[in-house]
Amino acid sequence: MRRVVAVDGPAGAGKSTVSRGVASALGLEVLDTGAMYRAATLAVLDAGVDPHDAAAVEAVARRAAIEVSDRVRLDGRDVTEQIRGPEVTGAVSTVSSHPGVRAVLVARQRAWVDERGGGVVEGRDIGTVVFPDAPVKVFLTASEEERARRRHRDEVGARREVEVEQVQAALARRDALDRGREASPMKPADDALVVDTTGRAADDVVAEVVDRWRETVDR
Ligand code: C5P
Repeated sequence: MRRVVAVDGPAGAGKSTVSRGVASALGLEVLDTGAMYRAATLAVLDAGVDPHDAAAVEAVARRAAIEVSDRVRLDGRDVTEQIRGPEVTGAVSTVSSHPGVRAVLVARQRAWVDERGGGVVEGRDIGTVVFPDAPVKVFLTASEEERARRRHRDEVGARREVEVEQVQAALARRDALDRGREASPMKPADDALVVDTTGRAADDVVAEVVDRWRETVDR
């Protein structure tokens, strides 16, 4: 059995924090697939390609060398901060709605896991499409207000000045696109552990996921 923990859910639900905690408890690495879609989106914008042009966007994604670890690199360039900026955030859901783009990135996500024999993989479609056979699948949620507050904190931390209302509106728009798209819409897998993280400490959620792993995989 592949040692994969699939962590899905909307922005601000706590995926990155929980994924890091679970990975460190289980001795696995984390793959942030959102960072891959963001890097592909930056490549599209840099190339001057219209994010709605499916064929052109897919061609750019196919050519883009994307490396995701502690830092994110696009064609060798460190783009860690840039991919969190408003231009990429505003276009990423359109870029990732194209099935051709998804096929390119999903193949790389599977290869990443194959090379390591497992990992904690976070995204939107990991439990439903990328690793439907993952032994542990988690779908994190949180109230819209809490998610907006968390993302707003990230923005302020990155010295981007925005109002919390603006962040909440942008999140809601992105969620609607990610949920409503035809290709791999964001949704919990039938056998996912659905966890509402509103008002909960990250450690507590990590412990719940690690318990699930020990019950199902490392018994
Ligand atoms: O996780 P993050 O918010 O950085 O993801 C950015 C965007 O990338 C999402 O809003 C979604 O459009 C796309 N994405 C996706 N499938 C994934 C991960 C991210 O479509 N597995």
